[in-house]
Amino acid sequence: MQPFEFSGISTRVVFGAGTLSKLPEELARLGAQSPFIVSTAQQIDAAHDLEARIGATISGIYAGAVMHTPTDVTARALEAFRASDADCIVAIGGGSTIGLSKALATRTGANQLVIPTTYAGSEMTDILGETENGRKVTRRDPSIRPETVIYDVDLTLTLPPQLTTTSALNAIAHGIEALYAPDANPILSLMAGEAMSAFAEALPLVMAEPGNSDARARVLYGAWLCSTTLGYITMGLHHKLAHVLGGSFGTPHAETHAILIPHVAAFNAEAAAEQLAPVARAFGSTGGGLWDFAKSCGAPMRLSDLGLTRDDIARATAIAAESPYSNPRPVSQDAIHAILEAAWEGRRPIA
Ligand code: NAD
Repeated sequence: MQPFEFSGISTRVVFGAGTLSKLPEELARLGAQSPFIVSTAQQIDAAHDLEARIGATISGIYAGAVMHTPTDVTARALEAFRASDADCIVAIGGGSTIGLSKALATRTGANQLVIPTTYAGSEMTDILGETENGRKVTRRDPSIRPETVIYDVDLTLTLPPQLTTTSALNAIAHGIEALYAPDANPILSLMAGEAMSAFAEALPLVMAEPGNSDARARVLYGAWLCSTTLGYITMGLHHKLAHVLGGSFGTPHAETHAILIPHVAAFNAEAAAEQLAPVARAFGSTGGGLWDFAKSCGAPMRLSDLGLTRDDIARATAIAAESPYSNPRPVSQDAIHAILEAAWEGRRPIA
């Protein structure tokens, strides 16, 4: 038994179908009197629905969240936040909207109540990635972590099939890296292992029947588990590669994670066999089994389909090799190149 340290999970979670009805109660619990709502332009109707539920006390809506949390968007939202009498942020949407909420919270000290509508898993973490002048910088701070998360299964019923699969694989990637993280602990490992079973069992049901509320609940449960694990561990090779591709080559977040994770899991399969046993059990094998699962759920399988060229793979390898990061198996520049090349070609990993 390895020694470990764990401070416990600090975010309040309300999970279920129809839980959005608890929003006024949860805001009162936070002492919020004048919430400021954030969303993407695509989800402005959901923001207006929150306004209707909260009543006249809202201080404003900012429906301009976009992917990768650009600091100029945050500056505009911050101006609107400060011009109002807002005392709390309410975010409804995926990781992009939650990113904006975190960027506002860390600059203002305001509490956050977030309502995730994808499986990407930003809501439980103290991690914020912000983009300025084309560079994405990721940092961690307690002020970034939301105070309350309301998971309402009903909100995920409209999630399009592609984002359903890719954001679920994004969540699976968090859980996999939690299993072999240097600061893994028994609680987080139990959570990640349970998540693998939930995804393996329920994601195919959701793909076959997107309106299946029970299956959607299982997948959202898996997303909560994986987001929680990400919030308390050190990220490894997989997240490093995803950040390089997203940050320096502009590849879409969820798709990049979805394509990479079977390859990184296969690379670590032997070095972290014991830790990754729940992944092998859930999907048949750690790398190839997960790759088959992703394919059967309609995930994109090739980095070349995201607009990357062979030359980009060489450049991405060089960037990724510049800084060290945690990983259970030693990582050489050749190994990074081999992983990226296999993912670029869409080859099935062997492990
Ligand atoms: P997203 O938030 O960009 O959402 C993609 C699109 O889908 C948006 O237009 C959104 O409005 C729409 N959408 C969301 N939910 C929907 C629903 N239920 N029905 C219909 N449309 C819906 O995508 P994402 O994958 O959730 O988030 C990606 C972002 O999250 C990235 O910027 C990434 O860096 C960040 N992220 C951060 C962390 C962290 O811990 N900091 C973790 C995971 C992801």
